[in-house]
Order: sequence, then structure tokens, then C-alpha cells
Amino acid sequence: MAADCIFCRIVAGEIPAGIVTQDDELIAFRDINPVAPTHILVVPKRHVASISVLEDSDATLAGRMTLMAKSVAIQEGLRSGYRLVMNAGRDGGQSVDHVHMHVLGGRVMRWPPG
Ligand code: 5GP
Ligand code: ZN
Repeated sequence: MAADCIFCRIVAGEIPAGIVTQDDELIAFRDINPVAPTHILVVPKRHVASISVLEDSDATLAGRMTLMAKSVAIQEGLRSGYRLVMNAGRDGGQSVDHVHMHVLGGRVMRWPPG
């Protein structure tokens, strides 16, 4: 755990969040500032700063993030589609330095993203 990391503090239960589901490795909770009717973050419980520092040994973790995002989308009833987003670094628009996958749905997404 990184003491100054907001997502580590959510994992530790120090900050409340709308938890949707969790398992031994991952937690999914509602984004505090949703940009779509459904906006959920899938987050590893272990502190990993960014996609940029993921290693080959994290392949299972990265895959499980995608599979939990899919399960969350089904649970939320996003039958007509959804978008999964991982922002990395400054130019990617990452604002929290603990890796996470956004599950966005409930409206039509535009392309290209901003
Ligand atoms: P990023 O910009 O890094 O891709 O996404 C970070 C996301 O975390 C943002 O969508 C932001 O609204 C969300 N967020 C930041 N602080 C909190 C918080 O304390 N609780 C929750 N639930 N979401 C947060
Ligand atoms: Zn963290």
C-alpha cells in the first residue's frame, strides 16, 4: 500500500466508495465523478502506479482486470455496449497514479476520444 494513494486508501477501507464487486486481487467501485450513467473503476488491490510499469509477471492481473470489467458491464445491464479505458501518464490523462480500468456505459460513446 502507498500511504498517499487514494485508491490504496479505498482498498484499505479508509475512504468510502460505492463498491460493486471485489475478489482476492481486484476491487470495482463507482467513480466519484461519473462521465457516463455507468462509470465504474476496476482497480488492483496491490499498488501498481501505471500500465507503464506492468511487467510480464502481471499478465494474469491485467487479464483479470479485463474480465472483471466485462462482468461488471453485464451486472450493470450494459447490453448495447460499453467502453473500457485505461489512461496512462500525463498525455494519456491519468490523474490517479494507481492503475485502473474505467468501465463506461449507459450512453453512446464518441470516437475519437478527447
Ligand atoms: P484517471 O483520470 O486517472 O484515468 O481516472 C481517475 C478517476 O478516479 C477519475 O475518473 C476520478 O473521478 C476518480 N476518482 C478520483 N478520486 C476518487 C475518489 O476518491 N473516489 C472515487 N470513487 N473515484 C475517484
Ligand atoms: Zn495505490
